[in-house]
Amino acid sequence: MVASRSARERKAAAQAGPLARVTIDLDGQQQFLYRISCTSCVARGHRAWSTHRAGEDNGFMAAMDRWTFHLVEKHPGEDAPCLAFLGEAQQRLHERREGG
Ligand SMILES: [Zn+2]
Repeated sequence: MVASRSARERKAAAQAGPLARVTIDLDGQQQFLYRISCTSCVARGHRAWSTHRAGEDNGFMAAMDRWTFHLVEKHPGEDAPCLAFLGEAQQRLHERREGG
């Protein structure tokens, strides 16, 4: 499990794009805890933006979805592989709001 953590980190960082800083911790239940912070917001002295979500693939997707929305809202000129999944992220957000 732990051995694959850095590989997951690299994969998530590649997908999140150059502005993101991705780290993965393990929580008390040995679950992956995804953290994505925005290097651009930090550099500009804004309140640092970051999201963290626990869990396996669900946690990864929830964190990446939030990051994708952050990019679209705050850094519309930026390019990142995760933006290709913006439509799916919005669909998931909608489904979560509907409660299903
Ligand atoms: Zn930002």
